[in-house]
Amino acid sequence: MTQLPVALVAHAIVENGGLPVLNPATGELLLRVRDYGADEVDGVVARAEAARHDWAGQTARTRATVLRRWFDLIIQHREDLALICTLECGKPLAEARGELDYAASFVEWFGEEARRAYGETIPTAWSGKEIVVTKEPVGTCAAITPWNFPLTMITRKAAPALAAGCAMIMKPSEETPLSALALEHLARQAGVPEHVFRILPSSDASGMGKVFCTHPTIRKISFTGSTAVGKILLTQAGSTVKRTSMELGGNAPFIVFADADLDAAVEGAMIAKFRNAGQACIGTNRVLVQREVHDEFVDRFTARAAALVVGQGLDPASQIGPLITEEALHKVQALVDGALSEGAQLACGGSRHNAGAQFYTPTVLTGVTQDMAIAQQEIFGPVAPVMSFTDEAEVLRIANDTRYGLASYFYTRDMGRAARVFRGLEFGMVAMNEGLLGTEVAPFGGVKESGLGREGSHHGMDEYMELKYRLMGGLAS
Ligand code: NAP
Repeated sequence: MTQLPVALVAHAIVENGGLPVLNPATGELLLRVRDYGADEVDGVVARAEAARHDWAGQTARTRATVLRRWFDLIIQHREDLALICTLECGKPLAEARGELDYAASFVEWFGEEARRAYGETIPTAWSGKEIVVTKEPVGTCAAITPWNFPLTMITRKAAPALAAGCAMIMKPSEETPLSALALEHLARQAGVPEHVFRILPSSDASGMGKVFCTHPTIRKISFTGSTAVGKILLTQAGSTVKRTSMELGGNAPFIVFADADLDAAVEGAMIAKFRNAGQACIGTNRVLVQREVHDEFVDRFTARAAALVVGQGLDPASQIGPLITEEALHKVQALVDGALSEGAQLACGGSRHNAGAQFYTPTVLTGVTQDMAIAQQEIFGPVAPVMSFTDEAEVLRIANDTRYGLASYFYTRDMGRAARVFRGLEFGMVAMNEGLLGTEVAPFGGVKESGLGREGSHHGMDEYMELKYRLMGGLAS
């Protein structure tokens, strides 16, 4: 068996039944963990609701200290957590370590932000009265998270909720409950009260989602995942007028203008496309290259893509791990086959990799057009469709021709163009001359069908706080 650090998830292990957790690199059973039913949510919510007032009643400094302790424990267990992440979601260990640091940064950041949840005073039009606006915790919150960043998706929601004084109940993806359970264990050790932060793995995603969205006590639902499921949850949450945060799908353009530093653009495209084997919401889905440099860019990019090492995440040489399921691999293959049948050409890859049943060879396609399914749908695999364009107006039209609006990237050295392209791209996040944009200090989120709300930064705290307007009259002397 593997070197899985079972102590971190021991509180949830069951011997028989439960939820089987598999290693996507090998198909091996890692563990079975407790499988919560939708009928158990009511009790968990009642206990969270009873406990949250005490938690919110602690000073901000106390909550900050607890979160700091949680951060320290996460860093202390860096190797174990990275290993769990690699074993259950497949990404190379070096990437899992990177994810761990990113996940921990949200705990550190929001612990600090707990002490800066300032309100405001507003000059009144009335004498003898004062207006003060305070920020108060939303209440008991629920969240549903995906498998592709199993550590970060937990901390980016739980840390601001706890910092704000809320209780948080989370259902991680059934593919990757172990990272979430390990974080829960460390939060408990750090002093987060048991009922204030709960992880509920479940094989009944739709049942849990429905209870989370319709439960009258839960005041907020935060979701990261596909746009299709986000729409279901938004509809369900309407019945109780819940606050919602939705971090949904993306279709990121990666634009290379002829005046760009091509070395930097190739480097950026490698990160934006192939990180986590292309299974990232902010991963580029369309590489758009200006005609004059198209062939040179494709040559260099293809050489780099073809040289990527595909293999199990535990192999230190591995740069591309498996896809999360065989079904995901079939979807990627169908998109590639569809594009080829419609006239795209293969620069490299194009098929399953012999490292195992769920591995796909890094692929570059040229001659892709915007009407192809591969340019419209999220690929979620190590496949880069390349298109060429003539001018700025054309590329902005193509880039924005999507119902998504999460991340986008462009490379240029012309600052006038930069200003126009920043303005013209209809995306929540735009990176110039960089292929990676996630950081705890900046607001992460999308427009259009990519979602509602922001995570990270001081805006991320506001998602878990309500404004209360206090009018104080009778103050005239
Ligand atoms: P998904 O199918 O929407 O699943 C996400 C979560 O929703 C999982 O926990 C899943 O549970 C649960 N779920 C599935 N069906 C549900 C339902 N009917 N009601 C309630 N919950 C339900 O997405 P995925 O394939 O796991 O993740 C990839 C998607 O997430 C992509 O679209 C990607 O762009 C998006 N994503 C967005 C961000 C962002 O920050 N914007 C970040 C990462 C990923 P089970 O897994 O247990 O079935």
